[in-house]
Amino acid sequence: MSLRPTVDFLLYDWLDAPSLSARERFADHSRETFDAVLDTCERIAREKYAPFNRVVDTQEPHFDGERVILPQATHDAQKAYAASGMLSAAQDYDVGGMQLPYTVEAAANAFFAMASVSIGSGMLTTGNANLLMVHGTEAQKQVFALNEFSGRFSGTMCLSEPQAGSSLSDVATRAVPDGPDFQNDPLGPRYRLKGNKMWISAGEHELTDNIIHLVLAKIPDENGRLVPGTRGISLFIVPKKLVNTKGELTGERNDVALAGLNHKCGWRGTTNTLLNFGEGKYPVNGEAGAVGYLVGQPGKGLHCMFHMMNEARIGVGMAATMLGMAGYHASLDYAKNRPQGRPMGPAGKDPAQPPVRIIEHADVKRMLLAQKSYCEGALALELYCARLVDEQHTADAATADDARLLLEVLTPIAKSWPSEWCLEANSLAIQIHGGYGYTRDFPVEQYWRDNRLNMIHEGTHGIQAMDLLGRKVLMEGGKGLSLLAGRINATIERAIQQPELAAHANALGQALAQVGAATKAAWATGEPTDALANAVPYLQAFGHTVLAWIWLDVALAAQVAPASAARAGRLAAMRFFFHYELPKIGAWLQVVSSRDQTCAALPEEAF
Ligand SMILES: Cc1cc2nc3c(=O)[nH]c(=O)nc-3n(C[C@H](O)[C@H](O)[C@H](O)COP(=O)(O)OP(=O)(O)OC[C@H]3O[C@@H](n4cnc5c(N)ncnc54)[C@H](O)[C@@H]3O)c2cc1C
Repeated sequence: MSLRPTVDFLLYDWLDAPSLSARERFADHSRETFDAVLDTCERIAREKYAPFNRVVDTQEPHFDGERVILPQATHDAQKAYAASGMLSAAQDYDVGGMQLPYTVEAAANAFFAMASVSIGSGMLTTGNANLLMVHGTEAQKQVFALNEFSGRFSGTMCLSEPQAGSSLSDVATRAVPDGPDFQNDPLGPRYRLKGNKMWISAGEHELTDNIIHLVLAKIPDENGRLVPGTRGISLFIVPKKLVNTKGELTGERNDVALAGLNHKCGWRGTTNTLLNFGEGKYPVNGEAGAVGYLVGQPGKGLHCMFHMMNEARIGVGMAATMLGMAGYHASLDYAKNRPQGRPMGPAGKDPAQPPVRIIEHADVKRMLLAQKSYCEGALALELYCARLVDEQHTADAATADDARLLLEVLTPIAKSWPSEWCLEANSLAIQIHGGYGYTRDFPVEQYWRDNRLNMIHEGTHGIQAMDLLGRKVLMEGGKGLSLLAGRINATIERAIQQPELAAHANALGQALAQVGAATKAAWATGEPTDALANAVPYLQAFGHTVLAWIWLDVALAAQVAPASAARAGRLAAMRFFFHYELPKIGAWLQVVSSRDQTCAALPEEAF
C-alpha cells in the first residue's frame, strides 16, 4: 500500500497546490515540478530510510569515549537527503534553493517521517538555518546557514536545561561578553557561555563536519544577576568547532562537551544529549567558556526562536501523523492476511467453516477505520496549516495576516492533536496484531515508542492546551477564533447543500457553537485558575472539532471524484469521525464549561 495517492489527493484535488504557482515566488513551479520532488523523496525514503528503521532502533547511538557512533545507514540516508536539495528546498534560488512552497516541502518530508522518523530528515538543521536567514547578520547567514543548507554542517536547538523544561524563564545558562572587543567580531557580538543543556537532539555525532548549536542563555546585568522571566533570554550561535569568516574550520574545538547520551524509549536513531557549555574541557585561548555569537538583539532570544515555532510544530505534528500512518498501513496489511475466527452469521458462529481473515471482523474494521480517520485527517490538517504558512509568506497583506492569525490558533492543534490521536492509532495497530504486535518481530511497537515522544517535546500537551485556551483564542480580541469559525462556517454552508453531508454539517455547526460557549464559560469568572483547570479537555474538544471540519471539507472534494474504492474509503473515514469521535466533545466541554475543580482542588495528601 502506498501513501502517494493520499498525498496526491490532498495536495491536488483538495488544496489545489498548483494554484500557488500564480504567486511570483513560485512562478517556475507546476504540478510537474511538485511531482518530481515527491517522486525523489518517495524513492530516497523507500531505498535509504525504510529498510533501516529497525536497525537504528536496535543499534542505539553509543559513545566510545571520544565519538558518538551511529549506524552507517544513518550516514548514508542523511547524505542522500542532503544531496536531494531538500535541506534548502524553500530557500531563494540565489542561495541554492528551489523556492518550493512549504506545502509541497511538508508533503515531501512526510515520506521520510513514515519510512524512519528517527533517522531524521534535517528538520532541526533546516529550522536552525531558516531562523538565521531571518534574524542573522549577512556573515552569520553565509558562514552558518548556507553551510547547513548544503548539508556540510547540521543544527540543533538548545532551549531546555535539566531544571528548565516547560518553564524557559528559568534558563540559567549565562553569557558574558568575551573581552573588550567582543562587539567587533565579524561573526557577531562574541560572548562566553556557561551552563548545561538537557535533551538536545542531534547534539553530538559525526554525521557532518560541524554542529551549529542555537543556544538560549541570559546575559547578566551589571551586578551579575540574571533578569528573571523570559525577557532576559538571548540567542547565540555556538559552533561545536570554531570557524573563520569563510566558514572553514579553524582546527580549534569550542568548549562544548558531551556530558552523556540519553537512552530513550523510542526515536533512537537520533542522538539525544546532555551538553555542558563552558566547563573548561576544551578551553578556547586557554580559557573556559563556550564561544557564542549573539543573534538579533539581547533579550530577544525567545522572540527569534518563536519565529520558527509554527513550522517546527507542524513538523512535530507531521511526524506524529506519519508514525500513525505507518502503523495503519502495517496493521491493514496484517489484517488482510491473518486468518482467525469464524464469521458471525444469523445463527452465530459455525465452527465447521474455515477461519476468515481478521479484516472481516467488525471490530477489526472499527480499529482500522479509526486509524484511517485519525491519520489521514491529521495529514490533511498538517498540509492545510502548511498551506497557511505559504499564504502568510506570499499572499496579499490582508490574506497573509488572516493566515498568520489562523496559524496562531491552529498550531497548538497541529502539534498536539496528532501527538495524541495518531499515538492512539499506533496502539490500535498493536491491538490488531494481537500478541504479535507486542513483540519486536513486528514494526508496530516501535512506531508506538517512537510516537510517544510527540506529546512531550516542542511544548507538552498540557502546555499547548494552556497556550490555546489561555492565549490563542483570546489574542487580538478573539479575532483568530472568529476567523477560524468563519472558515468552518463556509465549509458548513457548502456541505449543507449536499444530501450525503448535510447531517454532518449540522453536527459540526453544533460542535462549533459548543466550543464557543465553553470558551466563554471557562473565562466567565476571569480567573485563570478557573479557566485553565481543564485546558487539556478543551484542547481535545477543540481539536476534534477542527478535525471534523477538515474531514467535512475533504469530503466535499472526495464527493466530486468518480466512484472508486479510495473515494468510498475517504467518505467512510469522514462518517466514522462524525459518528464515533465528534460526540466525545460533549464530555470534554462539560468540565470546561462548569470550571470543574475536581482535579485542581484536590489536596496533595488525598492522592
Ligand atoms: C527525546 C527528546 C528530545 C528533545 N529534544 C529537544 C531539543 O532538541 N532541544 C530542546 O531544547 N529540548 C528538547 N527536548 C526537551 C523537551 O522540549 C522537554 O522535555 C519539554 O519541554 C518538557 O520539559 P521537561 O522534560 O523538563 O518536563 P517538565 O517541564 O518538568 O514537565 C513535566 C510535566 O509537568 C507538566 N507541567 C509543567 N509545567 C506546567 C504548568 N505550568 N502547568 C501545567 N502543567 C505543567 C508538563 O505538561 C509535564 O506533563 C527534548 C525532549 C525529549 C524527551
